[in-house]
Amino acid sequence: MSENLGLATPRNPPVRLTRDMVNNGFKLRVNELSGQNTDACYQCGNCSSGCPLAQEMDILPNRIIRLVQLGQREDIIQSETLWICASCFQCTVRCPKGIDIQAVMDALRQIALEEGVDHFGPDQIDPEQAAEVPQPGLVGVYRKLST
Ligand code: SF4
Ligand code: SF4
Repeated sequence: MSENLGLATPRNPPVRLTRDMVNNGFKLRVNELSGQNTDACYQCGNCSSGCPLAQEMDILPNRIIRLVQLGQREDIIQSETLWICASCFQCTVRCPKGIDIQAVMDALRQIALEEGVDHFGPDQIDPEQAAEVPQPGLVGVYRKLST
């Protein structure tokens, strides 16, 4: 059985589901690593609307949480969103359900790194650019590489 959930756009691609895909243990692992209950998300969109880097992401933060709920492991692991996220906690403080979305992003990066998926390393930072990059951005990069 497959199902197309919601309106599909380039940034919100259609999700095709089977029962086995949803019940694959991925969500439980993410919840365990992050200490969060992603099932509490009701897709209000507050996280994405406040994210300073949403325009750069291929999958918006609320959509990432939805894909976690649905066990869509591959779509998430291959998403650039995990590496664009600057770990600024804006989404976390805006979530009315108390979900620490930044912690979920950390958990997802950890899973991606375990599988050898990486999109950025500190050796890729030009020293001159590093002097200009906002500190939260650098902290975000190092957080990603130390999970
Ligand atoms: S922690 Fe990441 S996803 Fe959350 S608002 Fe900041 S950049 Fe966006
Ligand atoms: S702010 Fe919280 S409840 Fe709203 S979409 Fe984001 S994760 Fe879900």
